Amino acid sequence: MVSLVDTHVHVNFPELATDLAAVRQRWQANGVIRLVHSCVSPDEFATLQAVADRCPEVAISVGLHPLSTGGFWSETVGDRIQDLAQSDDRVVAIGETGLDFYKATNQAEQIAAFSRQIAIAQPLDLPLIIHCREAAAATREVLQGFPGAKGVLHCWAGTPAETAWFVEMGFYISFSGIVTFKSAKTLRESAAMVPRDRLLIETDCPYLAPVPHRGQRNEPAYVRWVAETLAQVRGEDLAELAAYTTANAYALFRLAT
Ligand SMILES: [Zn+2]
Ligand SMILES: [Zn+2]
Repeated sequence: MVSLVDTHVHVNFPELATDLAAVRQRWQANGVIRLVHSCVSPDEFATLQAVADRCPEVAISVGLHPLSTGGFWSETVGDRIQDLAQSDDRVVAIGETGLDFYKATNQAEQIAAFSRQIAIAQPLDLPLIIHCREAAAATREVLQGFPGAKGVLHCWAGTPAETAWFVEMGFYISFSGIVTFKSAKTLRESAAMVPRDRLLIETDCPYLAPVPHRGQRNEPAYVRWVAETLAQVRGEDLAELAAYTTANAYALFRLAT
């Protein structure tokens, strides 16, 4: 069986947390050896620590999601993120942060929160988990202000041209179940062009379950379907893709072996 890393999960959300023992059994049965648990707000950080206490294969992040910034963001929240990042050595990334301009009216506030989180990550030498929706140009512009910033564009849905921008800047690109959707032809073109040493896989569970589970609750075991689609699109063996995406996840997040 191949070994996989699901680099973006939210198993603390009620859809999965109430059923975590069974969910964990299924990820173990499907070869998921490590997971990176993304954080949407410092307010939920303790629930990520609780998951990591139960499941030592889960690494955690701390950060503020762009859609959680509205009316909440302040420099004090930034200070909390910085303190929490240094409080637990299971923290492997800052995020998720980034920009989500789909229906957003607080773009300036999102940019301020994103910029501060990049500034927190850099001296700690932590990668960023970047959420980017309808905001590729603005995301690139913010990142260009921080030379040397590193991380991953998660749940990527960008065009091939946008993909090339971030690959050139040295970022990793992570694909979720969206890449398996019938309508995602352009995204599969993006997936085909990411260099091997920059590709990651994720579920972003409990949302966006891949085909053949589309519309159902998503869970880490299903990252296998993302890997299979990517292998097909890229003309590679599943075993080959599993090996290098797993190595990439260990390298970016410096996961303990
Ligand atoms: Zn996200
Ligand atoms: Zn997420």
